[in-house]
This record gives sequence, C-alpha cells and structure tokens, in this order.
Amino acid sequence: ETIGANLDRTVAAHPGRDALVDVPSGRRWTYAEFGRAVDDVARGLIARGVRRGDRVGIWAVNCAEWVLVQYATARIGAIMVNINPAYRMHELEYVLNQSGISFLVASTEYRTSDYRAMVEQVRPSCPQLRETVYIGDPTWQALLDDGASVDPGEPAARQAALGCDDPINIQYTSGTTGFPKGATLSHRNILNNGYWVGELVAYTEQDRVCLPVPFYHCFGMVMGNLAATSHGACIVIPAPSFDPAATLRAVAAERCTSLYGVPTMFIAELDLPDFASHDLGSLRTGIMAGSPCPVEVMKRVVSEMHMAEVSICYGMTETSPVSTQTRRDDDLEHRTATVGRVLPHLQVQVVDPATGEVVPRGTTGELCTRGYSVMLGYWEDPERTAEAIDADGWMHTGDLAVMNPDGYVSIVGRSKDMIIRGGENVYPREVEEFLYRHPAITDVQVVGVPDPRYGEAVCACVVLRDPDAGLTAEEVAEFCRGRLAHYKVPAYVHVVEGFPLTVSGKVRKVELRRTAAEALG
Ligand code: ATP
Ligand code: MG
Repeated sequence: ETIGANLDRTVAAHPGRDALVDVPSGRRWTYAEFGRAVDDVARGLIARGVRRGDRVGIWAVNCAEWVLVQYATARIGAIMVNINPAYRMHELEYVLNQSGISFLVASTEYRTSDYRAMVEQVRPSCPQLRETVYIGDPTWQALLDDGASVDPGEPAARQAALGCDDPINIQYTSGTTGFPKGATLSHRNILNNGYWVGELVAYTEQDRVCLPVPFYHCFGMVMGNLAATSHGACIVIPAPSFDPAATLRAVAAERCTSLYGVPTMFIAELDLPDFASHDLGSLRTGIMAGSPCPVEVMKRVVSEMHMAEVSICYGMTETSPVSTQTRRDDDLEHRTATVGRVLPHLQVQVVDPATGEVVPRGTTGELCTRGYSVMLGYWEDPERTAEAIDADGWMHTGDLAVMNPDGYVSIVGRSKDMIIRGGENVYPREVEEFLYRHPAITDVQVVGVPDPRYGEAVCACVVLRDPDAGLTAEEVAEFCRGRLAHYKVPAYVHVVEGFPLTVSGKVRKVELRRTAAEALG
C-alpha cells in the first residue's frame, strides 16, 4: 500500500474525526477536510509541473502546511526532501544541490531566521531549483489557485501508478557525528514503520497526538504523522518549534492522549515553574526516543505526566526509523534499561564489529537491523550505502548494544562515543545514569577528553541546579567513591549552562567534546 492509498482508507473510515490541529493558528481539519486539503496542494504541485520522482524540498518549522506537503508529495510520487529549519545557507545549498531539489516549499521567517532571504542568496548557486513557494504568503495561495484548474481526479490517478518501493522521501541524518547523510526512503519503509509504531502504542481514532518534535525529522513525520494517520488519530501541533509551556498548554486544551519528545524536552516540561498547573490528565501514552532516558526522568513522566504506557523507541533515520520499541505493559526497568524488543516483521542482531559474527546474548556488540524498514540507500552515494548495508541486507547502525536473554535490547552507546581510558572501555551512558543521582546536577553528558597518560580521560559536563554553588571534580569523585569503578570516575568536571543540541534536541557530543577539551586546556 502507498501512503496516499493508506490515507484514503483513513479518510473513508473516519471522515468526521479530527485529523490535524494547528494550535498556534487555531486551524483544524477533519479527515474529510484533510483529504481535500492534501489534494488541493497536490493539484497545485501538478499545475506547477512537479512530476513523479522530482525532488520537492520542505524547509519549514512545524505547521499544518508541512503535513499537507508531506501527503501531497506522497500522493503524486514526488520525493519530499526534509530540510532542517536550523540549517543556514551553507547547509541549505548542500542539501538543495545534493538531492537536486527543483521545487521548494519554505517558511517565510521565524524568530531570527529569514528563510526567504537565505533562499534568495543561495539561488544563484542552485541551478536546479526552479521555484520556491513560501508558506503563509501570497505564493502559497497562488499555488492553490493554480491547482484549481487541475482535474480533481488527477492526484488519485497519479497515486494509482505508484509502487510501494518507489522512493518517496529523503531524510538527512541528524549530523550528530558528522555531515548529514541523505537516507532515501520508500512508501514501504516509512508507512509500515509508522503503522507499527502506532500499533504498539495502541492508537485508534480516539487518540490525539501532541507533537512538539520537529517534522523535518522522522520522529515527527513518521513516528508522529504517519503513526497517527494510519490509525485515524489526530495530529496536534503545539508550536512551530519546541516550547515546553506551549506544549503543556496544547495537551490540556486539546485533551491529548499522547505526547512525544526526546528526554531533554520532557526534562524542560517537568522543570517549568508552573508545571503543576497544567491539566495533563488526558495523557495515557507517548514516545520518548533519540537518546537514552534517565531513570529519574522516566519515573516523573510516568507518575507526574500520567504517561503510564509511555514507549521507548530506538532507531535511526536509515531504518525509517524505529527498530525496537517497548511495549505498553513493560515495567519501569525495561523502559529505562532497555529500548524494547524488535518491531514485528523486522530482525535485529548484535554482532562482533571485527568479525561480523553474532555475539552471545548479554555481550556488547554492534546492533544491526534487517527488514522492510531498511532504507533504499543514501541518495546518490553508493559507496556509503555499501558501507552501511551489507550484502545480506543488514543495516550496520554504529550503535553498541546488548541483546538481553529476554529479547530486550540495551543500547550501550555509539561506537564513536565510547571512551577508551588506558585500555578500559568507558560507556558514557552508564556514568551519566549514575551522575544523574547527584543532588546538585540537573543534566549531565560524559565525554572523553585527550589525556597524556591514559589516551583519554573521562570528563563530566554538568548543568547545575544552582549554578553559583559550583561543583568540583573532587566532590564528584567523592560521590562516586566505592560505587563506580575507579576508571569510570570523571577526572574532570566541566560546568556548562546547557549543551549544544541538534534541532531534534540531541546533544552534539562531538562539539561538546571539543569545547570541554578546550576549556580544560
Ligand atoms: P548522524 O548519523 O548524522 O551522525 P544521528 O545518527 O544522530 O546523526 P539519527 O538518525 O537522527 O541521526 O539518530 C540515530 C541515532 O540516535 C542512533 O544511531 C542512536 O545512536 C541514537 N538513538 C536513537 N534512539 C535512541 C535511544 N532510544 N536510546 C539511545 N540512543 C538512541
Ligand atoms: Mg547516524
């Protein structure tokens, strides 16, 4: 089934139910209205000459039009390219040219970002870019007006010609470890993935899903939008970009049943001074993903946010994204110590990175995924595709993991983040978990810094509850004494106000590692 055909079924089954609510603008669409709005955009694209296989870029903050473009491109077989709204001209130009975008939909401006000015500046160096339409300005309305001349049956006709394995989407990876790579994904890849993620949190047409996570990332567009529409649930957009207070207000006002976020977003919400004044009683579930969740945060999400069924997902852009997920009735232990079990119809295995042999359960190795969710490849980059996906179809994730005896997977860390101190492996996550319990610390990231004696030394970058109080390495060492192996105890403590984040809210450890090393001299 293609994404458009799946949407048609939802529209037919639940025409009168809410499909999409854009809280900042107060606009809302039922599924019947949403289906028509998608077709209006699709007809506009057809009128402007967008054909199957053409790349249509979307460079916008979260808004209803983003979602309409997602489904309109899928309906006519154009390949939507998600562009991170935090990108600046250098990255924009790279993505426009790397994926050969001919038609771009962009925000006009948001906060300090003037998207229009940036597009104008890069245009001369992007010869393939024919046209740009800006959301919320006359060019958007003109697109819809032009579409009115296209036969209303045309989007459905184009959709009928599409195949499930057609490329439909290029998503660039977060760029946490280097320059982003363009994962090319098919209908089969992302629709199935969104469907199963929604199935495992038991979405129905009764659910209302609050999405403060960015749409340009698979967390928003697949685990959020596709999971919702494939089950008749409603997409709720609380704000154009993450805003903890607006998120909680939207949950309360729209009676949301599900809330998404990376752990740092949940921390920001829980830390709001007026947290207790928001009525979050409608929540039952949600999804936390992207990076490890501290136990203390999970406890509060379950008890104070009422998300008793919250799911942890593990995945990566290249696998559409989710590979493993916790189940509704898993206990707290499984929701923090593991990232759940493999999704239905997928396979995961843990191998010795050196030999490629599957390692015994309980042993650390590299996690690999195989099945319908593995991307078609990196866009126009066969070399890196071949490095990532082996001849047997296994996607090598670069993540170190353990397959537990009960089939639940624990993520140990990225192979690139592992600290090697004098020959001993230190996994930052384990030390972070431990330091979260320190009363003076609100947030912590552990990185390796160069050390003349041990090669690398452990450095804890900490955000303090009371920044004026300070925290010394000796105090931290004292806290760890007798409870953590000596080689894991941070030699350095680097106090920061916050961490450098990707737009999807992930800590950019590469950058943090560099600034920590510089600060320590
Ligand atoms: P790049 O590949 O460009 O360096 P990235 O890997 O961060 O960026 P994504 O595809 O957005 O880009 O993120 C996937 C990665 O996020 C995984 O490989 C894994 O390291 C991490 N991750 C995802 N979910 C979890 C989770 N639940 N727990 C721990 N780590 C996670
Ligand atoms: Mg990656």
